[in-house]
Amino acid sequence: MLATARPIAFFSYTIRLLSLAIVTFSVGEAFGQDVEADVDVRVDDLQSLEVSVQPINDFVFKIEGEGAIFLINTSEGSVLVDTGTPYAQNEQQRTAIREHATGPIKKIIVTHFHGDHSGGLPKWKSEIDAGEIEFVAHHRYTYMSRIQDELTPFFLRRYYPLYPTRVSLDPNRPPSVHWEMEPTRPVFPGSDYAFELGGVKFVVIAPENGGEGEDGVLLWLPESRILFTGDLFGPLYPMFPNLYTIRGEKYRDPLDYIDALDLVLDLNPAVIAHTHFRVIEGEDYIQASVRRMRDAVQYVWDETVLGMNAGKTVWEMMRDIQLPETLAVSQGHGKVSWSVRAIHDIITGWYYYDTIANMYHVPPTAINDDLVDLVGGGDVLAQRAKAHLRADRPLEAIRLLDVATGNETKAVLEVRIEAVEKLLSNARAGLANYSEIGLLKADLRASRATLKGE
Ligand SMILES: [Zn+2]
Repeated sequence: MLATARPIAFFSYTIRLLSLAIVTFSVGEAFGQDVEADVDVRVDDLQSLEVSVQPINDFVFKIEGEGAIFLINTSEGSVLVDTGTPYAQNEQQRTAIREHATGPIKKIIVTHFHGDHSGGLPKWKSEIDAGEIEFVAHHRYTYMSRIQDELTPFFLRRYYPLYPTRVSLDPNRPPSVHWEMEPTRPVFPGSDYAFELGGVKFVVIAPENGGEGEDGVLLWLPESRILFTGDLFGPLYPMFPNLYTIRGEKYRDPLDYIDALDLVLDLNPAVIAHTHFRVIEGEDYIQASVRRMRDAVQYVWDETVLGMNAGKTVWEMMRDIQLPETLAVSQGHGKVSWSVRAIHDIITGWYYYDTIANMYHVPPTAINDDLVDLVGGGDVLAQRAKAHLRADRPLEAIRLLDVATGNETKAVLEVRIEAVEKLLSNARAGLANYSEIGLLKADLRASRATLKGE
């Protein structure tokens, strides 16, 4: 089955443009399955997941938690998929693994470098170093971990507003060591790692740029047709992929993502064991929902390409490109407008041909003090910003108030708080995007603290 998976994926890629309209129109009916446009969980619910053991069949268990771990038992030892977070909960998950593993852990497959998947890895370091456990990951795992490791102070400053209860900016915090661990069995695209343990067949597949980063791997159990996908689909299911995560990571390639989803469709799994929230079951539903996610990305790609060729600006495309109802999926984590900009920037890079000034080092904010002086102070800006706000233009209000950064008066802060509260209530009532809400809340906290003189 696997030998034919890639040629079929390639073939379906070539016919995708032709068949897109038909497939998307008929997706629900064709598989007798409705695909929900939204999901009943939010990304922040992850932090309240308790440790529990959920059997998927008689030898595969999900060890639930903020970052779930899968345990696969065989007569010759066990295999783990992912290692959970570095937080205290990890110890409870390890206890559950010890209680349910029928033999020694022989292999640990880490689906990608993110801390909720690799965070428990250091606890297995001595067995990995001793050669008792094989540490399997994508060959790009080392590269992605290196970026994370070298830029830790930079990333922590970006993570802090989004995860204030999870991130410490204390320079004396204990160093994270798990980024330094390299896979003892790297897996390369186009070269599956197939092995058998205790009579169970395993196939580790390394797509190019699958899911949340270029180091995402999949584990396929061909006999029971369970596919372990890590964060290929992100934390929610089904959702629009996070092609650009606002906390800051390399862009994720939309065309490679589509190919990875075609690969999933060709495997035709009966169960998708993805790391977060529920395990997905039922071939028909899996086919319908994966097609929906794939076609949604294809739609956004096509629309962005059309817009770019027609000379639209990235800002116009962020405003205008929206998923049709037949392709609606949750944007609680990935967001279409951010993905539009990601696609644009993947193709074009940072120079937008908007102003020659952007070829040089003086930023647009360099003249803000001049502008504040010329208009006669921050209060005048606040007054005009308030007019925008009254006319339901909170974004124009924010742009104007940004000019007063460093010259904030009480009025500037008060109007800013009002404008951000408006954006926050829109965000909550609309897409409920986790990162958008997180950054708006952080902005509110900062304005309120400045207003209080903190
Ligand atoms: Zn994750």
